[in-house]
Amino acid sequence: MDTETRSPETLLEAVKFFADPDVALAFVASLRWPKGVTCPRCDAPEPSFLSTRRLWKCKGCKKQFSVKVGTIFEDSPIGLDKWLPAFWMVANCKNGISSYEIARALGVTQKTAWFMAHRIRLAMQTGTFGKMSGEVEVDETYIGGRARFMHKSKREEKITGTGGIGKAAVMGLLERHGQDGHSRVRTKVVPNVRRATLSPEVRQNVEAGAEVFTDALASYADLGQDFVHQVIDHAESYAEGKVHTNGLENFWSLLKRSIKGTYVAVEPFHLFRYLDEQSFRFNNRKITDGMRFLRAAVGTIGKRVTYKELIGGEEATTPA
Ligand SMILES: [Zn+2]
Repeated sequence: MDTETRSPETLLEAVKFFADPDVALAFVASLRWPKGVTCPRCDAPEPSFLSTRRLWKCKGCKKQFSVKVGTIFEDSPIGLDKWLPAFWMVANCKNGISSYEIARALGVTQKTAWFMAHRIRLAMQTGTFGKMSGEVEVDETYIGGRARFMHKSKREEKITGTGGIGKAAVMGLLERHGQDGHSRVRTKVVPNVRRATLSPEVRQNVEAGAEVFTDALASYADLGQDFVHQVIDHAESYAEGKVHTNGLENFWSLLKRSIKGTYVAVEPFHLFRYLDEQSFRFNNRKITDGMRFLRAAVGTIGKRVTYKELIGGEEATTPA
C-alpha cells in the first residue's frame, strides 16, 4: 500500500480526503510506522496486508492487527473518516470547539463527540518540552467554577485570601522568542497562588539564570535567588521596556474568549484539558491549519499511545 504522507490543507479537503477509507488508513499508517509497518505485538517487520479487510497479518506471531491497535483509536468503533476531521476541528478552531459542534459536523452523538474530543485533547497534552530559557513571563489568573473569567483587578475585589469558592487558580509561563522564534506558553491549574506553590513551578519549568518577569505578587519574591527576576508593578504601569507580562495577558484573553464563547460549562476538574488545548493552538499559531493538524496527528498517532496509557487508570468521566 501507499504510505506516502499526503495531508489536506482545509477542513473541506480533510473531510473529502479521509472519506476514502484507504486514504485514511494510509495516512494513519504512515504517521504510525514511518519506517514501514511492524507488528504491535512482536515487532516483526513486513506483515502481509489483507486489503479487503484493511488488516495486517504478522509473519512472526501470525496474529492480525489493525492500524488502530496501540493508539488512542483502539477500542473505538468510530471510523478514521470521522476521527481525522475531529482532529482537524480540535486542532484548528481558534476559540475551541464544543462537543455539540463536533457532533453536528460529524453526525455522531454528543456523547461520542465528547469522548473523541477528550481523547484528542489528552493526546495533545502529552507533548513535553524542556525548560524555558531566555526571557520568560510568569503570571496567574482565576477562572470561575461556572467558566467565568475574572480579571485580576476584579478578582482582587471579590476574592479574599488565596482562592475563592468555585474559582480555579491557573498559572502561566510564557517563553518569548522560543525555538521557532515565537513565544510559547505552558499552563497549569494550581491549588492556590502561595509562594510554596508557584515558586517551585517556576524552578521546574525555567532554566536557572533566565530572565523572569512577573507582577508584584509576593509569591514571586524569592525568584531572584535563581533567576534574573524583574517585577512590573501593575499599580504603576503595565510595561517598562521589556519588563511586562503582556504576552501572558494576551493568552489569558484568548482563553477567556474560548471559555466564554464555546465551553459554556467547563467543569473545574476538566479545566486543565481546555488549558492544554488552548496552549497547543497558541504554541502552533504561526503555521497553517494543515500543518497544525499534522502536528497534532503526528504527536498523537506517532507516539503509539493508547487511551488507557493516557488516562493512566483514571476513569473517563461524565460528558459535559
Ligand atoms: Zn507479531
